Amino acid sequence: LKREGFSKIPDVKWEDVGGLDLHREKFDRYIINRIKYPEDCVKFGVDLDMGILLYGPPGCGKTLIAEAVANESRANFIHVKGPEILNKYVGQSEEDLRAKFNLARTCAPCILFFDEVDALTTKRGNEGGQVVERLLNQFLVELDGAGQRQGVFVIGATNRPEVMDPAVLRPGRFGKLLYVRLPGRVDRGSILKALARKKPVDEDVDLNDIGRRDACEGLSGADLKALMNEAAMAALEEKWRLGSGSDDMESDTIKERHFDQALKKIT
Ligand code: ATP
Repeated sequence: LKREGFSKIPDVKWEDVGGLDLHREKFDRYIINRIKYPEDCVKFGVDLDMGILLYGPPGCGKTLIAEAVANESRANFIHVKGPEILNKYVGQSEEDLRAKFNLARTCAPCILFFDEVDALTTKRGNEGGQVVERLLNQFLVELDGAGQRQGVFVIGATNRPEVMDPAVLRPGRFGKLLYVRLPGRVDRGSILKALARKKPVDEDVDLNDIGRRDACEGLSGADLKALMNEAAMAALEEKWRLGSGSDDMESDTIKERHFDQALKKIT
């Protein structure tokens, strides 16, 4: 399914996403099942053209969810960064945008993911002037290109939904808005557990307990990833410090004390 090196099925699984269970249900409903069972959708006359906008603070898993959705539905994934399209020569931005939608159609089923989509859909009459307005219009044309959009599902992500033109948020365009919030105490434990899938965390470490600590208050998913990396580094450095003589199972895992050290460093 790989084409032109731009699209592929990501290897992010739902297990890699911590918390956000409600989002998972919604995506099952609005995208994954529709890609898996297209005949049923036709039979029941369910409208397939629906974009979803994920909004919320940075580093909380918007990109990660979009990748997991593609993986889960075995769809190709095209990642477009809004500002990259915007910062082109006059006329080139619209051309690029059209090309992304065309590419998505050629490798359907496909998730077309627009990161920082506010850069492409800024309110009319706002900062940016004509360039931004032309781009917005092109974006609307593409989103409305129903019929030809079979198998292309658009997901947008933004930290600033309030600067987006309301026309983009109508049904059939980004008709569904999902808020991806900063994780709470319980979610932080789930995220740490998801991140621990790829790390040798000692089985005595209670990640739920670490997530509930006051020191973790306000940390995003991306911050928790940094915490996990710091803890892994601390464990590795300790192993090296102790030298080759300690090359046993005991020194090969990340322990509670390493998380303590990492937390001090990060917060
Ligand atoms: P931005 O607005 O900055 O683009 P984002 O919401 O798209 O942020 P991601 O890029 O998905 O955030 O998250 C950055 C990294 O943080 C991810 O690659 C992942 O490692 C980690 N992360 C964030 N949220 C979660 C989560 N809910 N579960 C597991 N890991 C997470």
